[in-house]
Amino acid sequence: MRWSKTLLCTLREDPKDAEIVSHKLMMRAGLLVKLEGGLYSYSPLGVRVLHKVENIVREEMDRAGASEVLFTALQPISLWEESGRAGIMGKSMFRLRDRNDDTMVLGPTHEEVATDYLRTLASSYRQLPVTVYQIQTKFRDEIRPRFGLMRCKEFVMKDAYSFDIDSDAADISYQKMYDAYLRIFRRCGLDAHPVEADTGAIGGNHSHEFMVLAPSGEDGILHCPSCRYAANQERAERRAPPCDWATPSAEPRARVATPGAHTVDEAAAALGIASDQVVKSLVYLADGKPVMVLLRGNADLCEPKLRRALGCSEVEMADPETTARVAGPFGSIGPIGVSIPVYADNALKEARDVAVGAGEEGFHVVHCNLMDDPDVKIARWEDLATVVAGDRCPRCGEPLELARGIEVGHVFKLGVKYTKTMGFSVLDAAGKSVTPVMGCYGIGVSRTVQAIAEQNNDKDGIVWPAAVSPFQVALLALDPKNPEVAAAVDALESALEKAGADVLVDDREERPGIKFKDADLIGCSVRVTIGARSLEKGGAEVRLRRTGETTLLPLDAVPARVAELLAAN
Ligand code: ATP
Ligand code: MG
Repeated sequence: MRWSKTLLCTLREDPKDAEIVSHKLMMRAGLLVKLEGGLYSYSPLGVRVLHKVENIVREEMDRAGASEVLFTALQPISLWEESGRAGIMGKSMFRLRDRNDDTMVLGPTHEEVATDYLRTLASSYRQLPVTVYQIQTKFRDEIRPRFGLMRCKEFVMKDAYSFDIDSDAADISYQKMYDAYLRIFRRCGLDAHPVEADTGAIGGNHSHEFMVLAPSGEDGILHCPSCRYAANQERAERRAPPCDWATPSAEPRARVATPGAHTVDEAAAALGIASDQVVKSLVYLADGKPVMVLLRGNADLCEPKLRRALGCSEVEMADPETTARVAGPFGSIGPIGVSIPVYADNALKEARDVAVGAGEEGFHVVHCNLMDDPDVKIARWEDLATVVAGDRCPRCGEPLELARGIEVGHVFKLGVKYTKTMGFSVLDAAGKSVTPVMGCYGIGVSRTVQAIAEQNNDKDGIVWPAAVSPFQVALLALDPKNPEVAAAVDALESALEKAGADVLVDDREERPGIKFKDADLIGCSVRVTIGARSLEKGGAEVRLRRTGETTLLPLDAVPARVAELLAAN
C-alpha cells in the first residue's frame, strides 16, 4: 500500500480525552478515528490489525474443533424473556422497536441465540458435542465508555458456545477453549494470565478470565507468588485475618456516647479501640430489598460476592432514607434488634468483643459478642470482604499480591442454565431426553488489539509484534522523486511481497525526519529505508522497530533478512 494514496493521518499531540498510553498511541498513529465516546472508526491501518487478530482467533478456534457461524446482531426481546435475562441485562442492553412496535435488542452477547440455534438443529446425542463460534459486532450501553477500544458501546467480540451431553464432556470442551485461548494470546504477542473469575450476568458456576497485566487495567487481580493462586478481586478469597478479640469481654454490653463519630476510624478513636474492632455495618438493597452486611472495620464489601451469596442480580448501597428507616442513621448503623436479614463476613466469626453502631445518632455499643448476642440475628455467614494485597492466600496462607489487569477473554462453564430454561433437549443413546450442558467463551477482539498496544510500546510509539503489525514492513522512500530511488523502492516492494511480507510504502513528499517519526509511531515491526544516500552506500537500511538494531544491506539481500527478523519477532 502507498501512503500517498491512502488517507493516513498521524497526530503530533495526544488527544485530550485519552488517559492511557495505548489509547493515546492508537489515536496518534491514526489507527482509530473517534466518532464520539465509545464509538470509533478503524482507519486502513487499524482495520488491518483488527483483521490479523481476528484471523489468529479464527485459526485457533478452527484448530480446537469449533465451527464458525454468524448469528444476527438484531434479536427479538422475546428470546431474552424466555431465558429470564431481559431484566438482568438492564440498561446495558440497547433496545429498539421495529415497525410493528415489537421490541428488538442489539445483541450484547449471544447465549440465547446460540441455544435457539442448537435447539432448532439438534435432537440427538449423536450430534453432540458441538462448539460454534462467531466473530461479530456487539453492542452494550456501558455506563462509562472509556479508554478507546477498551470499553466501547460497539465492539468486536469472538463468542463461542459449546454443547455437550453431560458435564464431564463439557469439561473437555471447556479445556479445549482454555488451551486455545492461551495459544491465541501468545500468538498475539500478549502476556495473558488465566485467573478465577466472577460469572456476573452471564451466569454459571465456574469461569476464568484471561488478564493482560497492565497498570492501567480496570480489574484487580490477587495472586500468590508461592502457590500461583490467581483470582479477580471480584471473586478472590482469603484466609481470615487473625483476630485479637476472640475472647468475650468480662464487661457487659454497653451503650457509649460517640458524638460526631460517623466513620469506623472516628468511632474507634472515640472509643479508644483499634478500628478493626469496630464492626462496619452497611445497608444494601438486594434486588430492591434491604439487607444488612457486617464486616471487620478495616475491610470493604465486595459487591459481586454479596450478589452471588444472595443469588440476586443487582446490589446497591441503600439510600439514606431507607437506611434510617431499617437500621438507624448513616454513621451509627448497627445490627442490634434490626428486622432485616443480616449477613456477616466470615472474618467476623471469631469476634467476641466488638463495637457496633447503636442505631441512633451519636452512640455505639461496645463489648458486643456477635456469635452469642440474642439481639443480633445473623442470617448467614458468608465470604463478603474485598481481598487486598497482604491478605493471606486461601490455598497456602502466604501473603497475596495485587496487580492490575485488562480482561481480554472470559471462559464459562454454564451448566444447564440456558438449555434448561429454553427447553433444549436431545435424546441420549437409551432414547431418554437429556438437557445438554453448555459453556460459553468470549474474546474481546477489539479490546485485544488495544491491549497489545498497551503492552508493546516505547517512548516513540507502538511496537507491534510481527503477527499483528498493520504492515510487517514500513518501506520509506526518502527521495521519492529521484528515479533511481523510486525504481529501487518499487522493486523491493514487489520482492518483499513475493517473500510473503506486507508493505506500507511511505512515498510522501515529506522530510526524512517526519517519515522516521511516523514509522516509529505506527510501529510496523521492520523499517526499510531507501534514499539516494543509502543507494550510494550500497543498498537499503533495515531496522528492527523493537530494538532499533540497524543494518545496511544490498537490495537483493533485504527480503531474506526481513523474513528472518519477522520470524523472530
Ligand atoms: P468487563 O468486565 O470488562 O465489562 P464483561 O465481563 O462484561 O467485561 P464478557 O461479557 O465476558 O465481558 O465479554 C467477553 C469479552 O468481551 C470480555 O472479556 C472483554 O474482552 C470484551 N468486552 C466486554 N465488554 C466490552 C466493551 N464494552 N468494549 C470492548 N470490549 C468488551
Ligand atoms: Mg461488562
